[in-house]
Amino acid sequence: MLGNERGKLVIVGGGIIGLSTAYFAQEKGWDVTLIDRGQPSSDGCSLGNSGMIVPSHFIPLAAPGTMGQAIRWMKDPESPFSLNPSLSIDMLKWGLRFFLASTKAQVDQAAPLLRDLNLASRELYVKWAESGIDSGLVQKGLLMLCNSTHMMQEEVQLALQAQKLGVPADVLSAEQTAALDPSIDMQIEGSVYYPKDCHLSPDKLLQSLHKTLELRGCKFLWGQHATDFVTRGRSVQAVKTSQGEVTGDKFVVAGGVWSDSLVKAMRLSIPMLAGKGYSLTLPSPAQLPSICSILCEAKVAVTPMGSRLRFGGTMTIGKPDNVISPEKLNGIKKSVVSYFPKFSLSDFEGIQPWVGLRPVTPDGLPYIGKSKDWDNIAIAAGHAMMGLSLGPITGQLIAQLVSDERTSIPVDRLTPDRYAA
Ligand SMILES: Cc1cc2nc3c(=O)[nH]c(=O)nc-3n(C[C@H](O)[C@H](O)[C@H](O)COP(=O)(O)OP(=O)(O)OC[C@H]3O[C@@H](n4cnc5c(N)ncnc54)[C@H](O)[C@@H]3O)c2cc1C
Repeated sequence: MLGNERGKLVIVGGGIIGLSTAYFAQEKGWDVTLIDRGQPSSDGCSLGNSGMIVPSHFIPLAAPGTMGQAIRWMKDPESPFSLNPSLSIDMLKWGLRFFLASTKAQVDQAAPLLRDLNLASRELYVKWAESGIDSGLVQKGLLMLCNSTHMMQEEVQLALQAQKLGVPADVLSAEQTAALDPSIDMQIEGSVYYPKDCHLSPDKLLQSLHKTLELRGCKFLWGQHATDFVTRGRSVQAVKTSQGEVTGDKFVVAGGVWSDSLVKAMRLSIPMLAGKGYSLTLPSPAQLPSICSILCEAKVAVTPMGSRLRFGGTMTIGKPDNVISPEKLNGIKKSVVSYFPKFSLSDFEGIQPWVGLRPVTPDGLPYIGKSKDWDNIAIAAGHAMMGLSLGPITGQLIAQLVSDERTSIPVDRLTPDRYAA
């Protein structure tokens, strides 16, 4: 058991962000209670994702060209990225904000911050592995595989940007790529290799974190739906849940894509839409790469997880729902076969898809910080396609913030007040 000299911290959300926050808050001496409406690792986006830790991902989703590409791809039901528009005011506002944030100037400002956050988080994952948190962490880098000249050219440009930012990136021919993972047949033009990237098994990670936190005395309230807050003046007194009130000294909202609706009760506005994606995990794949990769044209992530192989991809931006699109799944399966000739569509027969909702903010950056309107609540949500990667650093930063310490990385740009009315 760690000490609890600072007081009681209540966290809503038991995904990677909530668990990481609990871990670092406990280290600082908080008595932590974590509330989740689901059961351990059951209800959120953190379980079936692609498990990649990505210093290579320093470009936020809101970037020049993203919106145009999404609109063009809407005509293709199997495309990797699309919008599921509805005429709600929230969605229209989100779309306008996304469009306004998709400028080169915004990307140039965001890139060094995302680099710093991802590199710091990677280091924390390594420390966790050394301290016995078993996530199946593999530090072998990431391959961006391209099967067209056009995509290869785009990836080379990104590799140059990465190098300028101090993120190592090597441009490889098809032969050089094959030499890195010689037992895998690949149909590619070439690749870019990011040696600092890593991969892990999210299910192992969540289980191990949960166990570690429990052993250290963290209290888990599973199956409790947080609906509102009890407040007095500028201060939160308790979280109201389906089973009563949970009082505390400080509070953190880490409810993934559902955080937005939860904090509306506090008159806070943290706009977010769901970026729906899927994964398919083969228990006995035809070939098992040792390095994780992204199929660049198809935007499909390929991750070895022990003896399993996971393919994750597609992003359909819209309201949160778990409706599965067979067309999107087909898109993933077809792309796998086109890059890896030893695989066939029949490999996926009987494989149950997993669906996850990425919490996507209009500027592609997470909300990490405290609101100026409330004294004792912090927000940790909106990590889109980087939540697994940014989990530990988010937890560390939030633990610093609730402990009234200076953050190890400046988070002003990530303030949850940036869309306040
Ligand atoms: C196909 C796919 C692949 C991905 N691959 C990667 C990857 O390789 N690397 C990477 O970095 N990221 C990846 N991501 C993104 C990553 O999974 C998410 O960013 C991350 O899981 C978000 O974590 P979270 O803790 O914020 O949210 P979640 O994991 O969704 O957790 C939120 C939790 O809050 C709980 N909750 C919400 N509201 C309430 C409430 N009112 N009361 C009680 N409990 C509540 C939910 O039950 C849930 O357990 C991927 C996503 C998808 C869909």
